[in-house]
Amino acid sequence: MSRTPQNSSTKISSFVLVIIFIGLALSLSALMVALAYFGSGNEVLAGYFLLVGFLGVALSTYVLFQTRRRIMRLKIEIPPVTTTIECRKCGFKSVREFQRGDYIFKEVEPCQKCNDKMLITAIYREVKEKLSP
Ligand SMILES: [Zn+2]
Repeated sequence: MSRTPQNSSTKISSFVLVIIFIGLALSLSALMVALAYFGSGNEVLAGYFLLVGFLGVALSTYVLFQTRRRIMRLKIEIPPVTTTIECRKCGFKSVREFQRGDYIFKEVEPCQKCNDKMLITAIYREVKEKLSP
């Protein structure tokens, strides 16, 4: 409960992002060097730098998209907040999604069974345990 995996993973991804941008900058400068070598007529060295540059750009953009996808997945997987409503008279229980303005002991819609007032008794976040294969 006290662990915050989301915080550490966003820290890691920003570190990865910095590395990706450094790689991208290096690849772009390799392409510039390649252009300079083409200008001076050294086509073998130019071809080599061109290859390194393109490989670098391709690799950095690939890693960038992979990281972005992972961050998006993390954002989507926030577990929903659930509100439990209980009838004081007959004990009828109802569970629904948290709605704005919900608080514990708030009186909500009448009971489906006895028409008495119902109270919110619990508000919690449903944490789905991940089963690692
Ligand atoms: Zn009731």
